[in-house]
Amino acid sequence: MKFYSTNNKALRVSFKEAVFNSLPADKGLYMPEVIPQLDPYFIKNIQQYSIQEIAFRIAQTFIEDDIPSDALKNIIEDAISFNAPVKFLSADTGVLELFHGPSYAFKDFGARFMSRVMAYFSTSDDALLDVLVATSGDTGGAVASGFLGVEGTRVTILYPKGKVSEIQELQLTTNGRNIRAIEVDGTFDDCQALVKRAFNDQELNGCLRLTSANSINIARLIPQTFYYFYAYAQLKAQGIDRVVFTVPSGNFGNIGAGLLAYKMGLPVEQFVAATNANDTVPRFLRNGLYEPKPSIQTLANAMDVGDPSNWVRIRDLFENNLENLNRMITSYSYTDKQTKAAMEQLHHTYHYIACPHTAIAWLGSQAYRGEHPGSYGSIFLSTAHPCKFPDAISEEVFKKIKLPEGVEQLQHKTKDVVVLPAEFDAFKNYLIANK
Ligand SMILES: *Cc1c(COP(=O)(O)O)cnc(C)c1O
Repeated sequence: MKFYSTNNKALRVSFKEAVFNSLPADKGLYMPEVIPQLDPYFIKNIQQYSIQEIAFRIAQTFIEDDIPSDALKNIIEDAISFNAPVKFLSADTGVLELFHGPSYAFKDFGARFMSRVMAYFSTSDDALLDVLVATSGDTGGAVASGFLGVEGTRVTILYPKGKVSEIQELQLTTNGRNIRAIEVDGTFDDCQALVKRAFNDQELNGCLRLTSANSINIARLIPQTFYYFYAYAQLKAQGIDRVVFTVPSGNFGNIGAGLLAYKMGLPVEQFVAATNANDTVPRFLRNGLYEPKPSIQTLANAMDVGDPSNWVRIRDLFENNLENLNRMITSYSYTDKQTKAAMEQLHHTYHYIACPHTAIAWLGSQAYRGEHPGSYGSIFLSTAHPCKFPDAISEEVFKKIKLPEGVEQLQHKTKDVVVLPAEFDAFKNYLIANK
């Protein structure tokens, strides 16, 4: 399978090239040249398979012989080493919990798979692979734990000072080994700008083998399709085979993977994209005008994105046709006040403690059901463990959260972090001095 750029369909690169480039030079995004079609018999019997078996089957349709079966099996067993259960709140509404990985957010699926694919393609003769990543919180933790101890790689994480939660900061700064953390005296946008400039800096590229781990990498998109199939399998086991997925969306990578799964043959009735006040996509779907805006800070901060980076992929999947997009995607946006009220309601009515992103997804699923009553299964995605967002949760409710064991351990680890101003020269000098 080859991959093209959304800006130039004549361009074709191998899977390996797409993974290491991350972004084509023309600034499009890589897409598979054909959407693989899954055997309908496999879908019909999907409830028989484990998440790893499903993952292997799907990954192989994209990767083909670029990674031999045995190696791919090992990558998947190592990367997807945790479950993605659907917990049913009622007979037909379930929450797909994607936070049972080591960083307690769904980004573990993408980051762990990508890190192992990169390690597989790096031979021992290659120079050390330097992964640079800017994070507003969850990406850094997932990438750090994904690459921790992976031979031949080193990760440098940049995060904005004072803008990540305490648990997130501990996840970024207590890894040691091949992971380094830089606290930037600036915003997330500053962090991202520093990383972007590093990739374009000739001198740095002359002495370091730089690569990026951001969410547009094709090796992060593919593993995010796995859990849509696995969620469907769990719904089918309950005797329901029509599904509406609601996805809390920021950069639209997660829902993009769901839409890809649909195009591969997963029988999905509708996708609901639920956003916070950053409503560029809901506005686009209403009026056909794509008008990105600077991001607005909200309670669901992992979705504070004004110009979603994966949206072009979704447009590409639907031939850039607004009518086709609207047929498959419904989108709603919610204020912080609505998000807080939803978190309270989930707690009171269902005894379910959700992170703000998950609560927004639940709101979206309820709104869709209100407008489209009928007999279908509704699955909303829970993208992070609530313990990662203490500021968004009342103290009384927070006390009731059962902290994962790993979080308790984090509190006893020591922070190791370098503080830099948001200036490129300072960052560049650091990279060169600490080669
Ligand atoms: C990254 C993230 C999102 C948004 O996912 P996208 O793929 O960027 O749309 C939602 N919730 C949480 C908790 C996240 O970390």
